[in-house]
Amino acid sequence: MSPLPRHDYAGLERYDPQRAPVRVDLSDNTNLWGTHPAALERIRSADTDDLARYPELYADTLRAAVARRFDVDMECVTTGAGSDDVLDSAYRAVYGPGATVRYAAPTFSMVEPLALMNGMASLGVPWPVALDDPSTLLEGDPDLVYVCRPNNPTGEQAPLEWIEELLRLRGDHDALVIIDEAYADFAAETFIGRAPDYPGVLVARTTSKAYGLAGLRCGFGVARRDVVTEIDKSRGPYKVSRLAAEAAAAAIRDDQGWMAGVVGACLENRRRLDSALAGRGLQPLPSKANFVFIPAPTGRAKDDALRLRDAGIGVRPFSGIPGLSEGLRITVAPWDLMEDFLSALDGTFPELALPKGGKE
Ligand SMILES: *Cc1c(COP(=O)(O)O)cnc(C)c1O
Repeated sequence: MSPLPRHDYAGLERYDPQRAPVRVDLSDNTNLWGTHPAALERIRSADTDDLARYPELYADTLRAAVARRFDVDMECVTTGAGSDDVLDSAYRAVYGPGATVRYAAPTFSMVEPLALMNGMASLGVPWPVALDDPSTLLEGDPDLVYVCRPNNPTGEQAPLEWIEELLRLRGDHDALVIIDEAYADFAAETFIGRAPDYPGVLVARTTSKAYGLAGLRCGFGVARRDVVTEIDKSRGPYKVSRLAAEAAAAAIRDDQGWMAGVVGACLENRRRLDSALAGRGLQPLPSKANFVFIPAPTGRAKDDALRLRDAGIGVRPFSGIPGLSEGLRITVAPWDLMEDFLSALDGTFPELALPKGGKE
């Protein structure tokens, strides 16, 4: 009998976010200001003779840059081909028969597929319930607890005290708690430097968003060294290519100049976009990230996203969001692109448009 297909892969599909090419793509939260110049410079000046050799086993140059940036020991840093890969390695590190994942829902679209890919069961706890009582995330003794902070797709950021309470409650359980900080570069407050102070906590980060390096596939995580050792076992050697590790390390070493400028411009444009949307009756959720989440204009998220796509603008539709039901997630970008989005919105949904002469 053929081992394919795996019986537990029946519910799994190849990832397909229906992302046909579009004039302005605001659907994936990548950095529309471009790529970190220090990374570009590193790639342009790379010694390509090196490519005949394997990269560092565990990307120690990158680990050292991360350790320095967040003031942790290098042994407390793991890396991967994107933070999806760091998450995948963490899932596999805790896997065992009957292993389970609990997460606050809605959240990052890879959390459930990663569970299925790794033969684990997953269970979402609605955000309002988890926020009210973090112990709901530990019910049934899960092997893994996933929290995204700031959260994709809603943009909200669980209070620091809430994280601390979750980690205190975790003391009675064995779960590995993953705090995904993919958007923390845009938020004032982060947990990454404190991860090694707690047993069983991994803070995951990516260079795909604020650093503008999604094409490189490079992510990292910080945890206590015993946790990192276990995750590195399931990660395996040579996971991050030489160019990706060197370019990401250069960007991380120099994240004050260009990055600070991009983050500042992004927060300013988010504020402007918020008020432009509110003026059209589409009140965004309060966001701490480089995207905003609004109710779908007609209440049918998929249709609305398709209509905007016909007008040349890609946004990401979501359905079944507790308290909101149908919504659109829009990446914050340089203002000329935000104007393109707003005029496509007005052209597509004229009933929302500001009175003529209304100012953004
Ligand atoms: C985009 C995103 C990631 C993916 O990061 P990669 O490094 O590109 O794999 C991880 N987590 C969340 C919440 C994201 O939105």
